[in-house]
Amino acid sequence: MTLSPAAFMASAPKPLNGNTAWAARYANEIRRVFHEHAAQAPRSLQLHLGPSELGVECDRQVAGKMAGCPTTNHVFDPWPSIRGTALHAWAADAFTADNVRKNVMRWVAEQRVTPHPDHPGTADLYDAQERSVDDHKFLGESSLAKVRSAKGPSRQYRVQLHLYGLGYRNMGLPVDRVVLLAYPATAGSLDGLYVWEQAHRTSDIDDLLQVVFEQTATRQHYAREIHAGRLQLSQVPSTPDSDLCYFCPFYRPQSAKDGGVGCPGTAGSNG
Ligand code: SF4
Repeated sequence: MTLSPAAFMASAPKPLNGNTAWAARYANEIRRVFHEHAAQAPRSLQLHLGPSELGVECDRQVAGKMAGCPTTNHVFDPWPSIRGTALHAWAADAFTADNVRKNVMRWVAEQRVTPHPDHPGTADLYDAQERSVDDHKFLGESSLAKVRSAKGPSRQYRVQLHLYGLGYRNMGLPVDRVVLLAYPATAGSLDGLYVWEQAHRTSDIDDLLQVVFEQTATRQHYAREIHAGRLQLSQVPSTPDSDLCYFCPFYRPQSAKDGGVGCPGTAGSNG
């Protein structure tokens, strides 16, 4: 039986991303613009990593980023980080405008700070009234649940906050506490906002930052060796973790089987 062109078109599977075949193709084109632009965002091209990266527990991930190793994780979707970048910009405007509305210079948004000469970064928010350094995290449900759990935020988040705190202290400003503002990025309201805080001026925190700086020096050494061709990324010690590996630029679980580029992460027998 020969189908007419109209019947042939009608029998085609319904496109997933639009109401017509043209609309579905157009959805791909719109996604392409987002993906390509996200791949060029400054966060993706940092050779001197900022405070948000230094507390990552895996040496291999941090050394690979420092060395500028090519990305092998092509599964990770940039949408959450695109959304986070846009929401950070909105939040900065909101707090800056609050200073004007209340006629008090309380909030300092998006301030460059230098906790370590090689690793400056931009801190989200300083609250001069509470003497706190605040960081916005726009999180999906499962990440928000982790922050709310008894364990609290990851080491990466804690280190980032305290490095910003140190950066502010290096500018001569008082910092009593660090605050993580965990917003429900995928919810329909702000009701689920969760605040986590920790004292900043304690010997435990000083010890933690000392360890981070020592780790950073070791990772810089690895990165220089990789860059010079004397070390493979796979030879750098790794700390696989299901939360961390999925978002890691070097994650490629297939490498556990084919031995090719990338890091097997949690799929590797010895990491
Ligand atoms: S995939 Fe996991 S173990 Fe491998 S470098 Fe990345 S974070 Fe480390």
